[in-house]
Amino acid sequence: MGFIADRMSRIKPSPTVAVTAKANELKAQGVDVIGLGAGEPDFDTPDHIKEAGCKAIAEGKTKYGPPPGILPLREAICRKFERDNGLTYTPDQISVGCGGKQTIFNAMQATVNPGDEVIIPAPYWVSYTDIALLCEGAPVVIDCPAEAGFKLTPDQLRAAVTPKTKWLMLNSPSNPTGACYTRDELKALAAVLLEEANAHVHVMTDDMYEHIVYDGFEFSTIAEAEPALFGRTLTLNGLSKAYSMTGWRLGYAAGDAELIKQMNKLNSQSVTSPATFVQWAGVAALDGDHSFLAERNAVFKQRRDLVVSMLNAAEGLECLTPEGAFYVYPSCAGVIGKKTPDGTVIDGDEAFVKYLLEAEGVACVHGEAFGLSPYFRISYATSTEALEEACTRIQRACEKLS
Ligand code: GLU
Repeated sequence: MGFIADRMSRIKPSPTVAVTAKANELKAQGVDVIGLGAGEPDFDTPDHIKEAGCKAIAEGKTKYGPPPGILPLREAICRKFERDNGLTYTPDQISVGCGGKQTIFNAMQATVNPGDEVIIPAPYWVSYTDIALLCEGAPVVIDCPAEAGFKLTPDQLRAAVTPKTKWLMLNSPSNPTGACYTRDELKALAAVLLEEANAHVHVMTDDMYEHIVYDGFEFSTIAEAEPALFGRTLTLNGLSKAYSMTGWRLGYAAGDAELIKQMNKLNSQSVTSPATFVQWAGVAALDGDHSFLAERNAVFKQRRDLVVSMLNAAEGLECLTPEGAFYVYPSCAGVIGKKTPDGTVIDGDEAFVKYLLEAEGVACVHGEAFGLSPYFRISYATSTEALEEACTRIQRACEKLS
């Protein structure tokens, strides 16, 4: 019997966090690395939000907060749901957490018994599967390749449900692909869950990238697309991406009051609550001016277009144009089996990403980490100049393969 608990052998460190740390480490050593690994906007937190955080500290709002989150924040979250999504929640249906990740963690801890199945369309954000595994759940991963627009179909969903299914995990706009489900697509998935045989399945929808959409795409979330699923849906969101508040760690969930109560109980026995002054900054973010979003999205869109066109010009790569988030997920099928100048065979997306880092100093995340190969993820939430340089290097790296 080892000292470390068995459950730790079921999971690995977050690959997205690991790639970011590796790129930063190389940079600190003076290596010329362009980091396209982190899913983190390069924009700063807007001033009015920072000021609200500083003001809260100055006013002494630095004591323990209540485990569900401070009431003014939960009220602001309710206003947000009403305003943006036409969803009516009350504060007792809201739980705040230290980022989206902890909120998902709480939701699964509160619901997943050993062997319970969690349907996770792949490619998926790296932490969904590992959080389910930590809870002794069984991730049921369904491949949704580029040909399917990286989206789950109603038939795939119907075939995946078993009596043990607890959750369907949705994430739109998606990390890592940027793919977005339309309202009709969500309605079609919801229709499957409304079938009598599937009445036991709940939906966890991670809407973290809600505000980062392009080309007039209209964001929709499943509890709004299909009101009959409202009571079976846990709607997750957070401040990290839209408000460039990644390091503040603030996420939230809205759903059935009993589930929320259990999630709050977990907060009370773990983190107590996110930092109180951070929550006050969250109130300013949610209630404040949102005009910066359109400006930032316009920049993201230019970058997306640049990256997609430069990647499609690289030998062996193919890249879809996503409607949201700040990621692209190009296929590298065309370089698999080729050799690098030093004779190494590219035998998968991990080898390709390693080659990009070693040969050209470009850090990306391999597709296998997101459950679907052979692809890799690029985050274009970095400067346009850096992206242009990185894509030029990727093109050069691809040319050198034989
Ligand atoms: N969600 C971001 C990403 O995918 C941040 C890192 C993480 O928490 O995974 O890169």
